[in-house]
Amino acid sequence: MIAYIDAHVHPPVASFVDGPLAPYRRGIEAHLGTVIEVLEPVELAEHYRQRNARAVLHGWDTSDLTRETPFGSAKVAAVVAEAPDVFVGLGAVDPGLGARSVAGVHETASLGLAGLSFHPSAQGLAPTSRRALPVFEAAEEHGLVCVVHTGATRLGAGMPGGAGIRLSPARPIYVDEIAATFPELILVIAHVGDLWWGEAVAVAEHKPNVYLDISGQDPTQLDAPSRRRLEAGLVDKVMFGSDFPFGSPDQWLAKWDALGLPEKITEAVLRETAARVFLRSD
Ligand SMILES: [Zn+2]
Repeated sequence: MIAYIDAHVHPPVASFVDGPLAPYRRGIEAHLGTVIEVLEPVELAEHYRQRNARAVLHGWDTSDLTRETPFGSAKVAAVVAEAPDVFVGLGAVDPGLGARSVAGVHETASLGLAGLSFHPSAQGLAPTSRRALPVFEAAEEHGLVCVVHTGATRLGAGMPGGAGIRLSPARPIYVDEIAATFPELILVIAHVGDLWWGEAVAVAEHKPNVYLDISGQDPTQLDAPSRRRLEAGLVDKVMFGSDFPFGSPDQWLAKWDALGLPEKITEAVLRETAARVFLRSD
């Protein structure tokens, strides 16, 4: 049995770190007090393989807003191909590009990826934007899982005007609208909404097609009401993610272990829910 599935990994390969992450890299490193080490795909795979774990890799495409070369679906698929025993891939399309965005969704499906990763703050576009809707419609058609970053972001943090990045498109309630419009589409609210935690939890409790990834959240900060909800109705809705390389899976898991939660919750959060969503296993 695998130890865990890390549902939220931004592979620190050169084409991402020196590509669309480059404008924000120094600011993030200063914020985290660390240096992001560029890895070869095989080195990243080995990190997870040694831990008997799997990693869901996220693409990144903000090309409409920033003109940065995307870490798009083809690049994600190339990294996955280096270690298909370890990696599951989520491609990326910037939803603001009209027919090109929809073509990107078709391409993502043809590459055999599991889904798509969106970052509404970095893309400067709420999921409910009229321009984005055809993208979600195509994803639903192909059965692609859509992971949507929500809440605050380290991108642009501390930079003048937050580097122009707005937090408002990253509200979880926009995912609720998409989930209602496309009931067959599987959606994941990344970071459990972060500053909009309650909003994200309410959406996941209400919509069977919405899940939560707990990346970027310190499990020791779970308050008593959140913990009770996790142990009750949300047990099959929450999945672990580390946000690597911005977070450490080892450190997060050590904190989680220290909580002493019932084994069935750990099973669900570390393995079962992500396996159902991304590996399509029962
Ligand atoms: Zn992320």
